[in-house]
Amino acid sequence: MNKPRHETWNPVTGCSPVSEGCDHCYARGIALRLRDMGVARYSEGFSVVVHEDVIEKPLHWRDPRIVFVTSMGDLMHPEVPEDFINRVFDVMRRCARHQFQLLSKRPERMAGLCRTIDWPANVWAGTTVENRSFYHRLENLRRVDSAIRFISFEPLLGDVSDVDLTGIHWAAVGGESGPEARPMRIEWARGIRDRCVREGIAFYFKQWGGRHHSSGGRMLDGRTWDQSPDPSGQMRLGL
Ligand code: SF4
Repeated sequence: MNKPRHETWNPVTGCSPVSEGCDHCYARGIALRLRDMGVARYSEGFSVVVHEDVIEKPLHWRDPRIVFVTSMGDLMHPEVPEDFINRVFDVMRRCARHQFQLLSKRPERMAGLCRTIDWPANVWAGTTVENRSFYHRLENLRRVDSAIRFISFEPLLGDVSDVDLTGIHWAAVGGESGPEARPMRIEWARGIRDRCVREGIAFYFKQWGGRHHSSGGRMLDGRTWDQSPDPSGQMRLGL
């Protein structure tokens, strides 16, 4: 069977920084460049804008896809109206053939949404933890009633090997990219990997980032790590 195609969907663009992981936000840089090039969708730069014209786009993708939601912003940003978020969820609910990955540094808003909506089974909920200061995001993520909850440790900026992984199905690790990339130490990546292996949690090693480790851009201890969770609860290999 063919692997599903990966897709991004940006019914919202724009955001504002919330924590240290935002210091070199790639989306902000891209949005400002596109604004300067005269691209109409980014005429407001990185201010929060909702895009009515793309909200129904996934309904038109006939083949199943893995869809990353709002790669150019944050659907959970406080400036995004709740009514708009509800409509985005309605589209995702109607597209059971797709698997949506919703990542936000504002999981408290996701948890709050669960009080008013039934979380669709095909929407995976994730948050970012860049260092120990943001473990509290996981408390909110665990309150989200999604089939799969995931953590993005990217950019990984410190040792998080004592993180509580209760209720988490997938962990992805990545170093920071770009000219000002802050380095990721190998023991930080190993610490998470070892916890995931011990606890049967899918582990994905994305990249070393701007300062590549001598063993290769995507290699950790001589191999790649491309595990991902299966909604049935099984771990699978090869994202
Ligand atoms: S939350 Fe994400 S999109 Fe928003 S500023 Fe931070 S890194 Fe950028």
